[in-house]
Amino acid sequence: MFDSLSDRLSGVFDRLRGRGALTEDDVRAAMREVRIALLEADVALPVVRRFIDAVTEQAIGQQVLRSVTPGQQVVKIVHDALVEMLGGGTSDLDLAATPPVVIMMVGLQGSGKTTSTAKIGKLLKEKQGKKVLMASLDVNRPAAQEQLAVLGGQVGVATLPIVPGQQPVEIANRAIQAAKLQAIDVLLLDTAGRLHVDQALMDEMKAVAAVSSPRETLLVVDSLTGQDAVNVAQSFAGEVPLTGVVLTRMDGDARGGAALSMRAVTGKPIKFAATGEKLDAIEAFHPERVASRILGMGDIVSMVEKAAAAVEVEEAEKLAQRMAKGEFDMNDLRTQLRQMQRMGGLGALAGMMPGMKKAKQAMAASGMDDRVLLHMDAIIGSMTPKERAKPELLNAKRKIRVAKGAGMQVQDVNKLIKMHQEMARAMKQIRKMGGLKGLAAMFGK
Ligand code: GDP
Repeated sequence: MFDSLSDRLSGVFDRLRGRGALTEDDVRAAMREVRIALLEADVALPVVRRFIDAVTEQAIGQQVLRSVTPGQQVVKIVHDALVEMLGGGTSDLDLAATPPVVIMMVGLQGSGKTTSTAKIGKLLKEKQGKKVLMASLDVNRPAAQEQLAVLGGQVGVATLPIVPGQQPVEIANRAIQAAKLQAIDVLLLDTAGRLHVDQALMDEMKAVAAVSSPRETLLVVDSLTGQDAVNVAQSFAGEVPLTGVVLTRMDGDARGGAALSMRAVTGKPIKFAATGEKLDAIEAFHPERVASRILGMGDIVSMVEKAAAAVEVEEAEKLAQRMAKGEFDMNDLRTQLRQMQRMGGLGALAGMMPGMKKAKQAMAASGMDDRVLLHMDAIIGSMTPKERAKPELLNAKRKIRVAKGAGMQVQDVNKLIKMHQEMARAMKQIRKMGGLKGLAAMFGK
């Protein structure tokens, strides 16, 4: 899911991030590409419009365009807007009512409603220690009630005994009585599906809701059906007071638009994502993680946040100015090293930057760890101010003195000098790209 959308967006943002300065036009051009990518991923048009408007307005703000890393800021704005579009935070089931708390499952036939009912029953029992009862009200589809009984057996959750000939409202009443008698915490009602949304179905759901007062009414939709899923959700939302959505088949390779539009269209949170046929293939829906995955950004958001907190803006600007002039001496290297330390060291940086896994493995293989940062700092500290400003002064004799002063070997001093030379060269090449991108480029080598 989301793969092609993610590829497209990563392309757009890589280009943005690759530039040091951004103009309003750059941002607008990027947003046009984002708009097309979202539409091609099947996200509903009004949702796309609202999204692009909100993001563009923020992204062309002066604070962003004038910042040290405008590209990164824009990506973060898009990320945050995506999280918002997906519902903000994680939304747990609301079970705060007198037991038995009723959860009514609704949706079209084949959406994965019965499977999801059993999955949620299992979750509640195993993760929350709830006493759960499940009942199928589906009298249309042959063997629907038996299907739930079989799944119940597999997950170890009780199901209401089947009484042939009973109608949905009767079954619901019987389930509530049984749940009360058995001191059940949560009663899951699996309502009948239909092939299409029709009035009879809606009437039936309303009648069941009237006798069972569900605390949660979860709409199950198949994310593979794209725009159809959105239309179905809209019809249901207009008829019954939904409290949340369960998106199934998130393991498939759909373009993802349904998932992205669902919250905006129904106004209800996506509570679960189902990711397979197995009965434990369901998880709470985390907007944050999904957005990061869509943007193919590893955990770059927390990296930007950390960087903003760790890097003194003045320091970074001073460095950027010097780099712009092609200047990069040992003092600058020291500033960079200290910033890296403050951001959590090499490992933390490597883990957060997309595409940095390889660099991290290489560092581990060469025995390079965070002590290296401290050692390098010590070596620079052992140089005279003149040597720091003009590293080419460091002849053999001076290197021996510097090494001694830092408690290191001459070869360590040589390594540092070599690294400085490489970085100074790299800085010249990438000086237009801004600080963070610079770091990534250096360590990605
Ligand atoms: P219902 O008619 O809505 O009750 O749908 P079912 O629960 O019977 O599911 C229909 C089919 O979809 C079954 O074969 C399920 O195993 C399958 N299914 C349900 N959820 C998922 C899912 O998240 N991923 C995949 N790949 N298959 C699923």
